[in-house]
Amino acid sequence: MTSLLTGQVVSHLGQGISVEHSGQIKLCQTLRKLDTVVVGDQVLWTETGPDHGRIEKILPRRSVLLRPNKNRTTRPVAANLDTLYVVFAFEPLCDFLLIDQYLAICENNHINAALVLNKADLPADTTILGELQLYQKLGYTLYTVSAKQQQGLKELTHAMQDKTSMLVGQSGVGKSSLTNALLPDKDIKTNTLSNIHKHGRHTTTAAPLYHLPSGGDLIDSPGVAIFGLAGLTESLLAQGYREFQPLIEQCKFLNCRHVKDLGCAVRLAAENGEIAISRYQRFLKLREKMPLD
Ligand code: GDP
Ligand code: ZN
Repeated sequence: MTSLLTGQVVSHLGQGISVEHSGQIKLCQTLRKLDTVVVGDQVLWTETGPDHGRIEKILPRRSVLLRPNKNRTTRPVAANLDTLYVVFAFEPLCDFLLIDQYLAICENNHINAALVLNKADLPADTTILGELQLYQKLGYTLYTVSAKQQQGLKELTHAMQDKTSMLVGQSGVGKSSLTNALLPDKDIKTNTLSNIHKHGRHTTTAAPLYHLPSGGDLIDSPGVAIFGLAGLTESLLAQGYREFQPLIEQCKFLNCRHVKDLGCAVRLAAENGEIAISRYQRFLKLREKMPLD
């Protein structure tokens, strides 16, 4: 019997899955009965030939990020993420609705979330800075960086050490620039992968995983469009606003939707200024898009 080896899924290619084992990449197939294998998964696999293998088992995940699929179902995009870094800038204009959406997804999936204000070299927008203070008060760490001028990257690198991270955010905020700044040898790594799979064409269908020079992994952002409010329902969205959590228990009705409901502690707190009204208003906007529980 061939022995089971451990490995980490580093990319998902058209013709198979790249699994890294002892610094080497093996092109693997999966058993049909297995769940969807994704980037970041730790797996058990067996060798089927030189540079080839078969994934036999997905090891338990400590977190999984989902994307919407057909018919309101979801499918996984990345596994074992520790922290999602939500990147934004003064321009393109910061979309707080999108930020709240990412934060709510993290809150519900046991993934840490942090904020990254990129392009700090550009003139500051005081309205945005004011809104950011609200997030810091809620316990979200804010990293202020400039990928272009290589500022503030030390703190970010330090936070990413020995963790699995992903940068997300709208297009144009500087995710690729930041990735390049964090991974000086990114091109070399990409080449290593394509050399191994030189037989035939392949397309990269999922975010590849890179090793950070000072330890830890960075999974390339799979793009904004795929997230949506995957896997959340109306009540999970409310839980995703972390300042709502202690208030939800105080709402008069167990099935309170936190809109115009009688005795809603969340709405009351927002009206009294105990929690930020801007966040509450964004919750109301986002919940209009949500499926009912
Ligand atoms: P992505 O779409 O999020 O991957 O964004 P890109 O990395 O492609 O960057 C979008 C644009 O913003 C490019 O023109 C970059 O040169 C620019 N950019 C990225 N980082 C910075 C920065 O720190 N400062 C400034 N001024 N521009 C930046
Ligand atoms: Zn309520």
